Amino acid sequence: MSEARAEPGTVWFVGAGPGDPDLITVKGRGLIERAGAILFAGSLVDEAATRWAPPGCEIADSKGMTLDQMSAWLIERAARHETVLRLQTGDPALYGALMELVQPLDAAGVPLRVVPGVSSAMASAAAAVETFTLPELTQTVIFTRVAGRTPMPAGEELAALAAHRCTLCIFLSITLLGQLTAELRAAGWAEDAPMLVVHKASWPGEEQILRATLADVKQRCREAGIVSQSMVIASPTLGSRHWPELAKSKLYDPSFTHRFRRASVPAQPEL
Ligand code: SAH
Repeated sequence: MSEARAEPGTVWFVGAGPGDPDLITVKGRGLIERAGAILFAGSLVDEAATRWAPPGCEIADSKGMTLDQMSAWLIERAARHETVLRLQTGDPALYGALMELVQPLDAAGVPLRVVPGVSSAMASAAAAVETFTLPELTQTVIFTRVAGRTPMPAGEELAALAAHRCTLCIFLSITLLGQLTAELRAAGWAEDAPMLVVHKASWPGEEQILRATLADVKQRCREAGIVSQSMVIASPTLGSRHWPELAKSKLYDPSFTHRFRRASVPAQPEL
């Protein structure tokens, strides 16, 4: 046990990435290497993320803890260690109960910092070689979920958001596919609209990529036994890797001048 410090150490909320331990940031890894104590989210963050912890580092799984117990743990460790980590899955700003832990630390006068991480939404796109944005098709991404135990605020029902026809990254909803597909239908999405489900994106040896349509996604997930830890993506961009014609991004258009490059051919007049 280390001595109590005159000033509390800093609690770092670190995005551990989506599962592959190599997808933590260099900064996050450096913090693990000098951590005196690490509280990690056991249900999703691979324990391998703690493989760089120094000998003697106190490492605890928050799986069985309440939020009160977690903040008490962090405050108590900050009294003894210069560097204390809360390792969270993906990015801490998305569905991470960040403020529920930040507020008690603020109240206790414990300094804190946040280090971003690779969200599972981005890891899912990477796994499937997909893009969330395509010129002239959609330039908008919505991160959302279907109402489960947490109700959706008014106006944020999936059916309302889906009316935008943009890319939807739907978290925390793999057990609610009946409701999810009903809401996309209510927004007018076609039965053959492509859907992507990525289970354990980036987890070495465990990732599953399932391509389906609105009509069969629920059945296909059931057949594949996918019932947890999955990202559901609905987007008009899905499958664009194989499209013969893409509207090219203006950024790389030879007639387009921007800050870093002069146009090599004169722009055509807009018709
Ligand atoms: N902060 C996290 C999200 C935490 S909420 C992030 O930025 O990714 C937990 C939800 O995230 C899960 O229900 C699932 O929808 C998604 N998720 C987390 N890790 C995942 C992974 N490796 N593959 C697919 N989905 C994942």
